[in-house]
Amino acid sequence: MPLVKYDKDVFILSVAVANDQPHQVFVQIKRHEIQVACDCRMPENSLCQHAYGGIFELMHYTDMKLEDYYWPELHDQNKKELKYLQVDTDGHHVNIFPKPIYGNIFKVGWGFSLDHYHQFDTAMLHKQETGTGNEIDARNKLVVAYNVLYTELGLWCSQLPILMPFIGKTGKHSNHIVSFSQYLRKDKEIINDIVFTENQHALNEIRYEMFTLVNAVGRQDNKANIARWLQTVPVLIKLWQKAIPMLFYEAHLYSSQGYGHLGCRSNKPVKSHLSDWQISGDRFSISFSLKDHNDHLILEPVIKSSAKHIAHFRKVPLFLIDTDDRTFYLVQSEQDEALLNWLKISGNKLTALKEHFLDFHERFLDRLSEYYAVSYQHFNSRKKVVYRLNEVIPQNNKNNGK
Ligand SMILES: [Zn+2]
Repeated sequence: MPLVKYDKDVFILSVAVANDQPHQVFVQIKRHEIQVACDCRMPENSLCQHAYGGIFELMHYTDMKLEDYYWPELHDQNKKELKYLQVDTDGHHVNIFPKPIYGNIFKVGWGFSLDHYHQFDTAMLHKQETGTGNEIDARNKLVVAYNVLYTELGLWCSQLPILMPFIGKTGKHSNHIVSFSQYLRKDKEIINDIVFTENQHALNEIRYEMFTLVNAVGRQDNKANIARWLQTVPVLIKLWQKAIPMLFYEAHLYSSQGYGHLGCRSNKPVKSHLSDWQISGDRFSISFSLKDHNDHLILEPVIKSSAKHIAHFRKVPLFLIDTDDRTFYLVQSEQDEALLNWLKISGNKLTALKEHFLDFHERFLDRLSEYYAVSYQHFNSRKKVVYRLNEVIPQNNKNNGK
């Protein structure tokens, strides 16, 4: 393993080979080439073993991809510190990533690191009907309740959310469940004497479909399962779209956040994990705000329901949670789901340098703005206008003939 230092876009590797002193190799990773020099001066005029070994180790650390080392023209400094990037050198490895206030930074000639999101092709899905709450007096009775099980995104144990009906008993003087009994499973006989409503029968059928689908996806620790997850998303969105209006007729709704909830095969919900569940029948919209900070621009999503601006939100698989009132909103399409999940990785912020803006527009923003509304705020201005390229880079009409 060579020792690595990093200085202004250049990796300095100290490479030792047998029966020789360590050599210094200088590597710069460009879009279409790698520039390399060695202090042995490569006497044969060919790539020396130091350079070969050094680059090999560098690539090996990032799974043979050099993308993580490519941060073109992003080495501006504020005083002595890098302005945009954080560079962690731990002797043998270098990790370079954007400072959190910039979220994810656009790389000219390439795109965004971490992931590439270029698919804007799915039409919005069905609209949703809303129902009205219809609570029945149910004191001291066995009742059917519904628990929404969900997990965080991006973990090997992440799972898609499912609905789990269970039996509960309400208090002597209230409609609230005080004791929590078994989950209803197709493979387990229902021992309690419960009469299901038609709505509940239909919900239970949906829940079996959800369970079968989600169960087949498996842990997110290999490529095949990740692909299966993506294939399941649109089907599951439709099932949730069917279930949500029906859930408005149910009095006992809960949610619980789990870790690999299908694997544990628990028979009943754990009371301390449950919280009341609120779902909005409303759609939320995604638009974007692009703000000019003079030398760079920051793009952020803006989430609104028909009633309000959802200023603080959390994204979990298939749902967006308004963290101010803990209301869940179902995503409306596979496209929104993929986009919001991808944005979450970068703290919901994307940054591009002003001088990289044209490329950022062509590779990313142009297509994004076809599908999502984007507003633009000039530097030092509060006014927002509809984003157009020439708002950011004024076109000179006299010069259009080349
Ligand atoms: Zn050499």
